[in-house]
Amino acid sequence: MAWTRRAFAVASIGAAFSGCGPGKIEKAPQEVSLTKTDFGMADSSPIQRFTLKNQHGMEASVINYGAILTNLKVPDAKGQSEDVVLGFDDLNGYLGKHPYFGATIGRYANRIAKGKFMLNGKQYTLAINNGENALHGGLAGFDKKVWHAEEVSTSNGPAVRFSYESPDGEEGYPGKLSVTVTYSLSPDNQLQIDYRATTEADTVINPTNHSYFNLKGAGNGDILDHEVMIDAGRFTPVDGGLIPTGEMRSVDKTPFDFRGAMKIGERIDADEEQIKLGGGYDHNYILDQEGPNATLRLAARVTEPSTGRVMEVVTDRPGMQFYTGNFLDGTLTGKRGIVYNKRFGFCMETQFFPDSPNKPVFPSPVLKAGDTFTSTTIYRFKTSQV
Ligand code: BGC
Repeated sequence: MAWTRRAFAVASIGAAFSGCGPGKIEKAPQEVSLTKTDFGMADSSPIQRFTLKNQHGMEASVINYGAILTNLKVPDAKGQSEDVVLGFDDLNGYLGKHPYFGATIGRYANRIAKGKFMLNGKQYTLAINNGENALHGGLAGFDKKVWHAEEVSTSNGPAVRFSYESPDGEEGYPGKLSVTVTYSLSPDNQLQIDYRATTEADTVINPTNHSYFNLKGAGNGDILDHEVMIDAGRFTPVDGGLIPTGEMRSVDKTPFDFRGAMKIGERIDADEEQIKLGGGYDHNYILDQEGPNATLRLAARVTEPSTGRVMEVVTDRPGMQFYTGNFLDGTLTGKRGIVYNKRFGFCMETQFFPDSPNKPVFPSPVLKAGDTFTSTTIYRFKTSQV
């Protein structure tokens, strides 16, 4: 394995051969390749699309606008690869209004009640962009920034690292924040996203990725037949503005119980208060974990029975927003000219819980000056028999 990793480093800077032990030259197995193409201009800056490709049918494309995952090709049980994330064919789509397709979200994913929170005895006010609340980092969050991109070498092979410096006070958040998001693809079909941030003054941070998945292929109908398992015994119920009430409720005997695999569509229209408030699933699951320093663990598994594609979500985050595309309403035309209708995609956004800055009982999203925030989420793909 160590040899393979060293070979990657060499492969990523373009050499055809790498040394392997004294006096021995062997061909490097270029298991993951990285290519780059122009993708247009945003804010007078060139935007590029980086594509990571392995030898098992997987391909992931990311752009330095919004650090967005634009395409994710994944093989089905017969080895046919198809793009499984919603999005657009060109940059214009991403520059227009859309519900965060594939985007990196920050500084704070999901909602902060009334756009206000207290930190170190001071109140901070954020832009209100969702009813009376702040959502997904504000009016121009991480999803709308041009990021600096560099090609780096990771244990998975070549990777793309995006970095962004968010000025003190941007979108109302305190502290100058330096953040990086690294996308890598492993030879065995794992898309890994690593986040890292440091701040010059105490702040809150909660980055996530907002990909909408459809394991039948993006645009191929709704996601109601997908079978979902979420390893969570509790979730955080919400009020009418989708702000958590503070309660951590058992999923037992509710439509929110996905501890055993269930079809998304089975209970999505149940006559139940929380389902009605979300218009389906739009809730944070409390991922069962031991101790405050979570390690990477399986949070969810999604199986699409007709193609046999299986996606697993592995994360070190305490929560995961399960959102079933309830607000997709047929007004957006995506890749291949296909209109995205209600529930054409689902999101599994790994995160701190929504509104944590105002909920002391939830795990704390505070990043102190001088400390380093790190987190990792892996979307890994397999197949099951059809
Ligand atoms: C939220 C939804 C919202 C969607 C798009 C999700 O993270 O939970 O309520 O509609 O993002 O903004």
